[in-house]
Amino acid sequence: MSVKDILGSGYNHHEKLAKPAVLYFPAKDIGEKGGAHCGACMMFFKSKDEGRCTVVEGKIDGPTGVCGLYVHGEHVGPTMEGTIDKSVVGYTEDGPPTQCGNCEYYVGGPKLGICKKVAGRIEFHGCCNAWEAKESIELDDDDLDDLPDEEC
Ligand code: SF4
Ligand code: SF4
Repeated sequence: MSVKDILGSGYNHHEKLAKPAVLYFPAKDIGEKGGAHCGACMMFFKSKDEGRCTVVEGKIDGPTGVCGLYVHGEHVGPTMEGTIDKSVVGYTEDGPPTQCGNCEYYVGGPKLGICKKVAGRIEFHGCCNAWEAKESIELDDDDLDDLPDEEC
């Protein structure tokens, strides 16, 4: 069975979003096997035992928080709290650390697959701003016989 068979007529990788449109980060840029989260972002720092961010205002949760501005790395800059409202950057503490492998739109194996929304090869440990918590689909490498040949 192919991915087209599984996803039906709605599947057409030529009509999908381009990776830059959703800020897709490959696994090497997410930098965390467990998924993106504030505690692994270079903008995160501790102030009086509370998490803070140099970009986003308010209290930030290191293990469960994440937003669309995530950049993996150690915080080395000034510890000045940011001023951007959490709603502007999509800050959430509602899901697990985010990665394609636990996203509703990922179809694939433990390393590589495709996405129902975003074009091209998609890494299990990559992520993008269109991430949504996975609810149902569980497939494996045998279902990837029409994986796109070229990087998009
Ligand atoms: S709120 Fe966004 S920018 Fe700030 S630490 Fe978390 S992921 Fe990084
Ligand atoms: S699987 Fe989810 S997080 Fe990964 S590229 Fe697709 S929409 Fe983005």
